[in-house]
Amino acid sequence: MSEQLRAAPLLAIVVPCYNEEEVFPYCLRELKGLLGTMAGDGLIKADSFVLFVNDGSRDTTWKLIGDAVAANRCVRGLQLSRNEGHQSALMAGLAAVDETVEVIVSIDADLQDDVNAIRRMVEAYRAGYDVVYGVRENRETDTWFKRTSAEVFYRLMASMGIRQVSNHADFRLLSRRALDALLRYSECNAYIRGLVPMVGFGSTEVYYTRAVRAAGESKYPLRKMLALAVEGITSMTIMPLRLIAGMGFCICVLAFFATAYVLWRKFSGNTASGWPSIVLSIFFMGGVQMLSLGVIGEYIGKIYLEVKKRPRFHVESLIQNNAPEQ
Ligand code: UDP
Ligand code: MG
Repeated sequence: MSEQLRAAPLLAIVVPCYNEEEVFPYCLRELKGLLGTMAGDGLIKADSFVLFVNDGSRDTTWKLIGDAVAANRCVRGLQLSRNEGHQSALMAGLAAVDETVEVIVSIDADLQDDVNAIRRMVEAYRAGYDVVYGVRENRETDTWFKRTSAEVFYRLMASMGIRQVSNHADFRLLSRRALDALLRYSECNAYIRGLVPMVGFGSTEVYYTRAVRAAGESKYPLRKMLALAVEGITSMTIMPLRLIAGMGFCICVLAFFATAYVLWRKFSGNTASGWPSIVLSIFFMGGVQMLSLGVIGEYIGKIYLEVKKRPRFHVESLIQNNAPEQ
């Protein structure tokens, strides 16, 4: 990377929040404190800020964000018109920051990601990197199920040739040019973790220990996790379609030999019995076909959703505190 350090940037920290009233006060305190010390150390510009994106929360999150904005010049709030899900909320936040912002860090509201790693991310940016991934050093704080399913998912993705940073979620730094590049991917169903590596530019990783949620409950139940996994695969690769084609080809080859065998049995006058093989092959083929249709259907559904080019989110309001400095 370049010898000279980049100048201290204007930083925006984007935090998607969905029903996070319990954890919000902690999150606000930590991020505010961090901005203060980093600006004090000359690492970032003094008017750097946190942007909380309220993803249609049904609790008092938006009110808390409003109070925080009224009391702090370094806090801004973005209200979406309804709950759009984590990935869309994050995209909304990334798209909402103004052109003057030079560096963006995205982080979850629950403080599971170590806010102090942001300092190292910014240092890496100043050393010349455009993308800095926050990578969990260990996953001991996750349940056995979450750890194992994540591991299986990463392997599956890697086996299909999708570049994705293991043990990295949406805790990352993007420079202005990396952010602009990411925003050019206009698909409705964006899988940001898969898109960022496609953007390119110099990237590095910072490691941190993932904590348990500071307060409140996970907003990612199993159903949403599975949906994100399917989204990740089907939006990044058409490999499953190729696998189906390959499977079909293998079955055709088998069927060819089976036909030869059956004809040979017929002409040798020995065609009685055999219902187990018929029943089993009907079940087997039925299963394979249904599964294949399902996978193909998933892609057709995706085309259907994409051709409509529906907006990913609607912004209800963007609030910030313009009071003059004390
Ligand atoms: N989130 C969101 N919209 C949703 C679900 C979650 O903005 O529909 C936010 C949530 O407030 C949090 C982040 O996404 O800041 C990650 O969610 P969570 O911590 O519950 O997921 P987990 O860490 O359990 O996977
Ligand atoms: Mg979390």
